[in-house]
Amino acid sequence: MKTEKKCPHCGTWTTWEKQPTDCCTSCNQLLDPVSLSEKTEREQKERVDTENDFLRIRETDGLGMIIVRKTALVFHIIFAAITWAFLWFVTTFSG
Ligand SMILES: [Zn+2]
Repeated sequence: MKTEKKCPHCGTWTTWEKQPTDCCTSCNQLLDPVSLSEKTEREQKERVDTENDFLRIRETDGLGMIIVRKTALVFHIIFAAITWAFLWFVTTFSG
């Protein structure tokens, strides 16, 4: 659905499809930057939830899937440990 919106940056009336990614036709700035950042935040949170969900072993999982999930969890922990060790190294030896 197309509608018109006054651009918050240059004040020109421009077509707006009510999408957070819509840009002003005269200055090319985002018409609704707040809703775009909210959308990005929500998507990031959903991604984290999906990741945690993948590592959780379900009752319906077969042996193969349990091994896959446990391996993924081990790699997840190793990666976190490396990140932690790297941060410790940087903060300890940088002064
Ligand atoms: Zn504009």
